[in-house]
Amino acid sequence: MTAKIIDGKAFAANVRGRVAEQVAGMKAAHGITPGLAVVLVGEDPASQVYVRSKGKQTVEAGMNSFEHKLSVDTPEAELLALIDSLNADPAVNGILVQLPLPGHIDEEKVLAAVDPAKDVDGFHISNVGLLATGQKAMVPCTPLGCLMLLRDELGDLSGKNAVVIGRSNIVGKPMAQLLLRDSCTVTVAHSRTQDLPGTVRRADIVVAAVGRPEMVKGDWLKPGATVIDVGINRLPPVEEGGKGRLVGDVDFASAAEVAGAITPVPGGVGPMTIACLLANTLTATCRANGLAEPEGLTA
Ligand code: NDP
Repeated sequence: MTAKIIDGKAFAANVRGRVAEQVAGMKAAHGITPGLAVVLVGEDPASQVYVRSKGKQTVEAGMNSFEHKLSVDTPEAELLALIDSLNADPAVNGILVQLPLPGHIDEEKVLAAVDPAKDVDGFHISNVGLLATGQKAMVPCTPLGCLMLLRDELGDLSGKNAVVIGRSNIVGKPMAQLLLRDSCTVTVAHSRTQDLPGTVRRADIVVAAVGRPEMVKGDWLKPGATVIDVGINRLPPVEEGGKGRLVGDVDFASAAEVAGAITPVPGGVGPMTIACLLANTLTATCRANGLAEPEGLTA
């Protein structure tokens, strides 16, 4: 069998288009323009690329983008004061603090300071609790993107066996909660899981969020399974001065021979993350203004 390739890049463009359409409608009908504030502390090159890309896509969707770039030695109190002012600013509907933060800043304290209603990353403990108890929450962007791809591919997920590999707070755990909410039978695997290949082989849906290049092999999969590869790993360059290829946590070549459908890396889950950030900002704006939530763009 040769798997269908799930085109996350095209799906993400479609999500961004739907967000832009709804933003235009909201402006016309209510005079409201959603605003997303992104806070970057320090000069981590990868974070700078992400923040630039987020700002560009926010503006392209017709939203206001507010970028706050702080120096690497910014005191924690100063960052918390900025978050307070963003919480109080009615023009700001979503707040994202780019992680990781410099070592002298307490990440948990900072995430807890963001108003849960503006927490478009879904990392605030209130949103974690709301998601876990099946209530209306802001849902972390990457797992939300994976869920959208799965629903689009499979329709109703009810009764499917799902294995999530990885139990991080930003991907694995919220992913498992979302699948459970869609009535999957969910197994969460991690570094202490025994017989991981055997566990994965029982799954109709596999979500790999491990951070280990090409770990999941084709012969671990049930024939016809749907595979969502969250991993982004850069292999060492083959030649000196080269960049090194990007690969996922799944061995794409062997997996594509067995799976029914699979996301590639790059071009799978990656582009969905920012698209879902925009969707979450729109959702937060609707909730703040008592408007109907955008259909198909939330969990
Ligand atoms: P973490 O390092 O926080 O978590 C990795 C998880 O994988 C842990 O739960 C760990 O288990 C588990 N794990 C590690 N080794 C094994 C193993 N040999 N067998 C089974 N499980 C194992 O990573 P993240 O969740 O933050 O990210 C995972 C991947 O997803 C990374 O490649 C990251 O770059 C990528 N990513 C991609 C995003 C996107 O936009 N596409 C966004 C976020 C992340 P344990 O808990 O026991 O240590």
